[in-house]
Order: sequence, then C-alpha cells, then structure tokens
Amino acid sequence: MTFDTLRLIQPLLRAVGSEGYTTPTPIQVQAIPPVLEGKDVLGCAQTGTGKTAAFALPILQRLMQTHAPVGHGGHGKNRRPIRALILAPTRELAAQIGESFAAYGKHTPLKFAVIYGGVKQGNQVRALQAGVDILVATPGRLLDLLNQRLLRLDGIEIFVLDEADRMLDMGFIHDIRRVIAVLPTDRQTLLFSATIPTEIRKLSAGLLRQPVMVKAPSESPAADTVGQVLYYVEPTAKAALLEELLRGPDMTRTLVFTRTKRGADRVAKHLAHCGIGAEAIHANKSQNQRLRALGNFKEGRTRVLVASDIASRGLDVVEISHVVNFDLPDVPETYVHRIGRTGRAGAAGQAVSFCSDDQRDELRQIERLLGRAIPVLSHAVKATAESALAASKPARGRGQQQQHGHRARVSTGSHGSYASHASRKTPAPAAHAAGTPEQQQAGFWRSRRKYKRPLTGGPSTGRRGR
Ligand code: AMP
Repeated sequence: MTFDTLRLIQPLLRAVGSEGYTTPTPIQVQAIPPVLEGKDVLGCAQTGTGKTAAFALPILQRLMQTHAPVGHGGHGKNRRPIRALILAPTRELAAQIGESFAAYGKHTPLKFAVIYGGVKQGNQVRALQAGVDILVATPGRLLDLLNQRLLRLDGIEIFVLDEADRMLDMGFIHDIRRVIAVLPTDRQTLLFSATIPTEIRKLSAGLLRQPVMVKAPSESPAADTVGQVLYYVEPTAKAALLEELLRGPDMTRTLVFTRTKRGADRVAKHLAHCGIGAEAIHANKSQNQRLRALGNFKEGRTRVLVASDIASRGLDVVEISHVVNFDLPDVPETYVHRIGRTGRAGAAGQAVSFCSDDQRDELRQIERLLGRAIPVLSHAVKATAESALAASKPARGRGQQQQHGHRARVSTGSHGSYASHASRKTPAPAAHAAGTPEQQQAGFWRSRRKYKRPLTGGPSTGRRGR
C-alpha cells in the first residue's frame, strides 16, 4: 500500500514524500478513504500511530477540492470562513497538530492557525483576521475568542475532536458542548480517542452520524521497537547514574520522566550543572517557556528534556533515542505511554528505568501489564551525600534505605560500563549470581525475587495504599 493508492492529490503526495513517509500507517489506510468520502469517523488510535496525518491529509484534500459555501462570513474585513476546526486538549498537542498541517499542506494555498491559552491573544487574533481555512484550538481559548466575537464557526465543514478521552479526563466536556452548539449541524465530524469508554460512546452517539469505525492495531503493551532495561538504584544515586548514562555516546536525544514537577526541575538543574544541556517542561512553566524548551529539544539545542507526565502523551519529537524513567510512574499504563515517546513509527528506541526500593510495587504492576520482567542491568554508582539529588519521593522505610545505601556503597566492579549497557539493543538481563555487581544488586534488592514468578497477567492485586 502506498499513499498513491489512497488517491491523494499531488500537493499532498509531494509533502508526504518530503516528510519521508513511504507507506501509510494502518490508521491512515483505514481513515483516509472514508474521510475523503465525507463520512463521519470514530477513530480509536493513540498518538504515535500516525493519526494526525490520518485526518489532516484528507481534510486538506477535501478543502482543496471544494469551495467554501457562499454566505458564511469570515472575520473583520476578511470574508474567508474557517472551514475546518480541530479541537485538542493541550497546547502542546495543538501546536503539534499545527506543525503537521504546516508540513502536509505546504504545497497548498490553504491557511491555518493554532490558538491556545497561556499566551497573549494578540497574535492569534491577527492570524484569524488575516483569514484561515483550518483552525487548531484548545477549548478554553477558542471559547474566549468566540465570546469576544473575534471568530465565527458558522462556516465549519469539518470538525475534529482529537484525544477525546483525554478531553473528558481533563474536564472539558462542558466546553466541548458549548463549542458544538455553535457549529453548523450539517458538517463532517471525526472523533479520535486512545480509548473508547462508555462516556466516549455516549458523546460520539450524539455527535457522529453513521460513523465509520477505524482502529489502530492494538499496541502491544510496549512497542516491540523499544528496548527496555532497568537499573535498581537508590534514590540518592539516581542523578549520578543518569549523569553517567548521559556521558555515553548513544543518548543523543533523551526524554527523562520524573514523578513531580519539582523533581523535573531538580534533575534538569543537576544535569545543567554537570555541563549536560537539559531543560525541564511541566505544567508550572509558562506556555512560552514550555514551547521554547520543546523547540530547543526538537532542534537539538538541548540534548535532554526532563518532563513530568504532562509530556508523556502527545509529545511528538522524532528520533528520541532514549526515554529514562527517573521515577517509575504510579499508573502502569503511563509507563507504556512514556516509553512510546521513543521507538516511534517503527524506529528503534531505548527505555531505561530506575527503580528504587520504594518503587517496587510500581515495578510489579508495570511488569504485570507488560506480561514479562524488564531485563535488569547493573551499575556501580555509589549513593553518597555528594552525588545525592534528593529523590522526588522519599523512601518508605528509613532503616531499609540505610541498609540498601550500605550495599550500594560496597558495590564495586564494572565501572564505566553504563553507557554501553544503555545502548544495547537487546541487553542481557543481569545474572542474579554470586560475586559480581549483579550479585550485589540482587542483594541490594532481595525482595525482588518474588517478582520473578511467572507473570500470569491475571487481575492486579489492586493499588497500593499511599
Ligand atoms: P501521530 O500519531 O500523528 O502523532 O504521528 C506519530 C509520528 O509518526 C509523527 O512523527 C509523524 O511524523 C510520523 N508519521 C505519520 N505518518 C507516517 C507514515 N506514514 N510513515 C512514517 N512516519 C509517519
């Protein structure tokens, strides 16, 4: 299957070619034909499956092949109506969708704008007044500008609700309904969602007319293209271990996840202090700071982006070589989303996780979800007061931590091997045998043994009390 067989017009084929796409992804194969036919679509697909092109390409083509109906007003002096509206839950996702329209539509005369909150509205209003065919928006800013009568949506022909499940999670349902209320009823609607729970079914029942269902092939819990390894490491040795790994040649573009915003700031600061270009991105940063950090990372000006989970979904940076879970996430599915930021669209990627004693429950849940254990690598980074960067969450048992601290301190052996371990495509699990750093690791975390039982994939034992 090629993009030609999907009957895309030349300007789009050229754009897709210059993006380096040779074959459409499964969601593109399924969604492009019905969208081109003007049908409503209910798409079950996550970021990373190529879903943006699955709706952006046929939208561009439909707008190219039809003219705006007469009688729908534009804005200000401009009589050009907005013809397609894409609603996205976050600024980052909206910005990324905008970039996709820019890339795929670069050989068309169609104009687009992206509007989101957290920045002054002046530039966005000016862009709207200049006339746009396609508008990508987050709900809050869209409603703001609607209320100020700075834009009209009565010319919308195609409406896309992207990451609908996340929209509902974020409490946008009322905003969504307000937006829908001002759209023409005679329109094409596309709804994309990573999951289709009951709420999404209900929403789509009221929104879509005889939709075609499309579904990206269910992701194996973790993409096969992502190599996964794990280090047992004390909270106070994590920063030093990360630094060591980053000193290797392979971590060319690394996304580090911490549990908290404060943790992200501290890790970024620590790395910058060590001369490793790093920036933090999380919800407490201003929109401009976030976009700048993202831009620097995408352009390769900073090698490391340290993020709280805000970036674990939707962040689309090509060629992330490594994802590091500095802290394991609370929710096992988040692990899969996080590591899905590397190994995208078939590229090889590496996920490196740090597990401290206080996170063994999290690891157990993740391994249950994966249906297998994550291979363990050894390291010899010592937990010392000097190397300590306070972890974002203290260990549960002080006594336990001290004991482990001692074990880690006596650890000796293969110093300097971290980087090569991190770059291995299919790293060998550390032997839990005597006499080596591996042995000491095994001792470091004796209770690990119980997780080596075959994983049944049965019901989880429930959430941990916290
Ligand atoms: P998305 O799911 O839309 O966020 O896309 C994920 C990534 O896949 C983006 O980096 C796209 O540029 C890339 N991509 C989309 N379609 C294709 C394709 N047909 N071939 C290769 N890469 C693609």
